[in-house]
Amino acid sequence: MVYADCVSKSFGSNEVLKSISLEVKRGEVMCLVGPSGSGKSTFLRCINHLEALSAGRLSVDGELVGYREANGRLYELHPKEASKQRRDIGMVFQRFNLFPHMTALENVMEAPIRVKGQRRSDVEKRARELLARVGLAERADYYPAHLSGGQQQRVAIARALAMDPKLMLFDEPTSALDPELVGEVLDVMKELAKSGMTMIVVTHEMGFAREVADTLVFMDGGVVVESGNPREVLTNPQHNRTKAFLSKVL
Ligand code: ADP
Ligand code: MG
Repeated sequence: MVYADCVSKSFGSNEVLKSISLEVKRGEVMCLVGPSGSGKSTFLRCINHLEALSAGRLSVDGELVGYREANGRLYELHPKEASKQRRDIGMVFQRFNLFPHMTALENVMEAPIRVKGQRRSDVEKRARELLARVGLAERADYYPAHLSGGQQQRVAIARALAMDPKLMLFDEPTSALDPELVGEVLDVMKELAKSGMTMIVVTHEMGFAREVADTLVFMDGGVVVESGNPREVLTNPQHNRTKAFLSKVL
């Protein structure tokens, strides 16, 4: 589903991703961990066409996102194709980014109506199902300001799912939440993983990674330091940088 081959990304002289090679198969969950500034968000942004690669090759579901040859020539999807592919990729951020002037239900209905032009009655039925799936059937008519952070983040997940994505990217989805609200969001993500969704999750929740991830990737300074089965990486890290990081977050 996601194939990154020697992907690099620089901002000016700052090389943020240094030849990242990763693969996420359909239905798999990859957790991406690492210190702040290690390039995790940038990697997600490359997958989602929000940043152009500086080198390497990246594809999603067999379709090229970008490819830059050694001579510097860049191949990218036509912008129309790129925005089509972006519709198939759901993204959930640390900050919930809900539209404040819309109810939970309207937030979930917005993209399928505006972007896909689907019928309002069909979209509403599906949006209510999705809100029920994230445990918020009773909150459909609430505005974001009247929902807790955990509820807002669950609406954000339902909103992403409304576009029927084939891949979900999560960038520290629980980092801005009060500790007692983290579990309800992780539970929704666990259910999503069980349903077979392909997911890349940037998180510091090692319990989630251990339980749900097929692969745990530890990044530091723009490189993949190590990756593997989460239980193995967590109980028997091979690199000192991984050990040092884990000792801080576990
Ligand atoms: P992480 O998500 O692991 O904390 P980021 O991918 O956000 O790391 O950032 C990695 C590095 O890239 C940081 O040094 C950050 O300052 C830099 N960076 C990220 N986005 C930009 C940008 N748009 N312009 C310049 N530098 C950026
Ligand atoms: Mg980040």
